Amino acid sequence: MARVYNFSAGPSTLPESVLEICAKEMMDCHGTGQSVMEMSHRSKAYEPIIEGCEAKIRELMQIPDNYKVLFLQGGASLQFAMIPLNLKQKGKVAFVDTGVWAKKAIDEAKRFMDVVDVVASSRDKGCNYIPHIPEIKGDYDYVHITINNTIVGTKWGYLPDTGDVPLVADISSSILSEPLDVSRFGLLYAGAQKNLAPAGVTLVIIREDLIREDLPNTVPTMLRYDTHANEGSMFNTPPTYTIYVMGLVLDWIKANGGAEGMAKRNYEKANLFYDHLEKSSFYRPTTALDSRSIMNIPFVFTEEDAEKVAAMNKKFVKEAAAAGLVNLAGHRLVGGMRASMYNAMSLEGVKALIAFMDKFEAENK
Ligand SMILES: *Cc1c(COP(=O)(O)O)cnc(C)c1O
Repeated sequence: MARVYNFSAGPSTLPESVLEICAKEMMDCHGTGQSVMEMSHRSKAYEPIIEGCEAKIRELMQIPDNYKVLFLQGGASLQFAMIPLNLKQKGKVAFVDTGVWAKKAIDEAKRFMDVVDVVASSRDKGCNYIPHIPEIKGDYDYVHITINNTIVGTKWGYLPDTGDVPLVADISSSILSEPLDVSRFGLLYAGAQKNLAPAGVTLVIIREDLIREDLPNTVPTMLRYDTHANEGSMFNTPPTYTIYVMGLVLDWIKANGGAEGMAKRNYEKANLFYDHLEKSSFYRPTTALDSRSIMNIPFVFTEEDAEKVAAMNKKFVKEAAAAGLVNLAGHRLVGGMRASMYNAMSLEGVKALIAFMDKFEAENK
């Protein structure tokens, strides 16, 4: 079977050249006579793989020296708990509620924090925009935002000023999709399965002064940032193969112009797609103009009859899949369709989707 264009929200498409290297090195990586899957994480052969991966992340994201890069497990979802567990001092935190993942982070923080202030929200309009809240100040342990909202398809186009309060951001679905000034944040985290790797590793980028050694004794060893920071993410076995693939993806990003190159590529794809939606009388985007994600683009039919729409959604997703364009069903909470166009999605893939949409429109109008 020929490869498909995979618009999945995650795990998601990887660069073909990376998959080819994985295949080539499967039986014998770099003359070791082993697959990376089989290597001890403490072996001489593996050491350069994890160290190289960290060096490449640091270079591509221009991470300042006073930040640690951690390779953890448990997904972005475990960070919803680890962050309050590690950053709690006053017991007060501020969140901006911009969607499903933001809400999950809020709910988890409530387990640990005494006060969880939702200082702004876009719930009034189904989270289809990013609230304008240029300043968030208060005696908070941190302020949390979700930079790219994978399900509703919005993204922060600016960063709020939080003064001395550390800004914490979930960048699971936007990491390295465009340049980001790491020095503006106290902590960044991302499940890697959207833009960087297969599932299994979570990246945490944390300013060193936020890594505390004096945490309450009840915080489990594995949930403490200092545990992992002190051991170079080798306190226990890290997800070795996923980190290897991430390293290859980072090589691919670097060869394609780094964060700037990705931004150019991603805006070209997203602009082409949004333009097509805007010009259409058959389809329409669901998000506010100033808040649009370049990674995840939900869209719906302009048709308003609910029964017709349900049938058309189903038909669209099915016929698209038959045409080699897969995973286009919208999230069950938003409905309609969603095209996720992470770094590895090619412009050709987006053009193929647009051509299919035109054909579907002509046949179903
Ligand atoms: C996918 C996603 C998550 C959840 O990630 P897991 O690694 O599955 O826990 C959290 N936040 C955002 C923004 C996401 O896109």
